[in-house]
Amino acid sequence: MSHRKKVVIIGAGAAGMSCASTLAKHPDLFEVTMIDPEPQTGGQATSISLNESQHGASWLNDGVQGGSAIFRHTFRFFRSYGYEPQPVKLQVSFGKDRNNFWTNVFPSALVKQHSREIKKLGRVLRCIKYLMPLLGIFPVKFILRLFRFSHDFSNKMVLPLLALFLGTGNQTPNVSSVLLERLFDDPQMRLWDYDPDTLLPNLPLMYTFPNLGSFYCDWASDLGSKGVDIRLNTLVAILERKTKGIIIQTTPNDPHSQPPGEPLTETFDELVFCCPADEAKKLLDRHATWREKYVLGGVKFFNDITITHFDSTYFQSIFEAQYHPSLCAQSTSKERRDQIAFAKQQAIEMGFDCTNYQHQFRESLGEGHPPRPLEEHVFQTIYLNDQLKGLWTWNEIEPSKIIARKWWHQFGHRWQHYLRVVPGMMFINGQRRTRYAGSWTMVNMHEIACISGIAAAYQLGAAYEPFDDFAEDFFAKYLLVCHGTRYKRSKPKQT
Ligand SMILES: Cc1cc2nc3c(=O)[nH]c(=O)nc-3n(C[C@H](O)[C@H](O)[C@H](O)COP(=O)(O)OP(=O)(O)OC[C@H]3O[C@@H](n4cnc5c(N)ncnc54)[C@H](O)[C@@H]3O)c2cc1C
Repeated sequence: MSHRKKVVIIGAGAAGMSCASTLAKHPDLFEVTMIDPEPQTGGQATSISLNESQHGASWLNDGVQGGSAIFRHTFRFFRSYGYEPQPVKLQVSFGKDRNNFWTNVFPSALVKQHSREIKKLGRVLRCIKYLMPLLGIFPVKFILRLFRFSHDFSNKMVLPLLALFLGTGNQTPNVSSVLLERLFDDPQMRLWDYDPDTLLPNLPLMYTFPNLGSFYCDWASDLGSKGVDIRLNTLVAILERKTKGIIIQTTPNDPHSQPPGEPLTETFDELVFCCPADEAKKLLDRHATWREKYVLGGVKFFNDITITHFDSTYFQSIFEAQYHPSLCAQSTSKERRDQIAFAKQQAIEMGFDCTNYQHQFRESLGEGHPPRPLEEHVFQTIYLNDQLKGLWTWNEIEPSKIIARKWWHQFGHRWQHYLRVVPGMMFINGQRRTRYAGSWTMVNMHEIACISGIAAAYQLGAAYEPFDDFAEDFFAKYLLVCHGTRYKRSKPKQT
């Protein structure tokens, strides 16, 4: 008789794959099945094909695009299959015309005008840090009002910056202020250093991801060869969740299969939900405990759409896409003059000017070549929250220049998320043979999805393989917050 634990993972995105991969290292302990209704693994980590002769690259990552140096577990997974993230100097810009525009590429009038408030924000971030449990939970809009920041500074600088990196759109004022502080200051989550003169440092180092479609494909075939039963195009229903085991039914979801596939009923010892919280709640339905209903029900999801296109006229009508002297503030120092000189040779990256951001476009040009003309660039415009569809300008994109449209289901980082969901995770994880993973358990980042999947596997008895002190600390923090478990290092820290 087999003593292996039968584990079913529901959802094959970054969290599900990380969980399966960690469990698959112990074939003597676990028999792993992973189920997803989609035809491929990766969840929100997807790539699309491009016409290389027209755009200069044959593919584009149209979901997750990149991360910072803190993405250690993500990068480790990439490297174990021969993929390498590529460094990029991040350029962002916000607003249109001289009164509203600012960027981290060169000094602008808006940054100059708000220089005192930028310095004050630095002091407030320190204040949030030291009074974290008290101030951190409040929504950003409350903190901005409490410390008497001007509407202009809040609406043109702080909120757009947070919205861009959390993808929270009009919900941004309701984001917990802990995230504002963490983005600048937390060693594990920091995207860049706070700059007291310009708010964002000049061109922080980020990394763009390799072809995620190929990477996830290679990862899935390797897991398959290690015995993980990956069932794509498959629907799942939970029939029973008892102390003896979990009974589930799976049905093939392939509309082309003739005759339609038969449902299969199986019993598993352990269940790991790696799908969105609302899907998990729906699947549990009457089997959910009141705690699960409360915690999972606290995650608020929004439907967003990305349109990948090459309509540079539309893009420029929304953003400032290139350096123009009228946008620039007077240069006051040598450093600022150098920034202006640099900006004059570059196109500024506007949110998602993918040709500027993703490395494959630069590689095709080669070193020292001038950037591609804007008309050949591939852009991605994200329209957030379909409840506000009326405000979207998506109809203004020239239809013949649209490459792809894709809908996404993403959670919002509302302040309630950090009052109800994140602190509640430890009370539902491990109950009734069920664990939860996914970026929604903390912050919407690929790295969190990976760590959450590894943590669920660890809690089931798989080993955490230390490879880097920083990564191990991040993992330990996640484990403590979401599972209420203290991680024991097998070796002391290197430093
Ligand atoms: C447009 C966009 C851009 C982004 N850019 C970045 C970025 O640059 N950097 C970054 O770090 N993060 C980015 N993110 C966020 C990042 O993609 C996510 O945090 C991460 O990929 C989530 O992984 P996950 O495994 O938690 O969830 P998902 O990737 O959503 O995976 C969940 C899986 O569950 C499956 N599923 C759903 N319902 C069911 C069901 N009923 N039964 C079984 N399976 C089900 C889904 O098919 C999916 O495969 C971006 C997200 C989007 C949408």
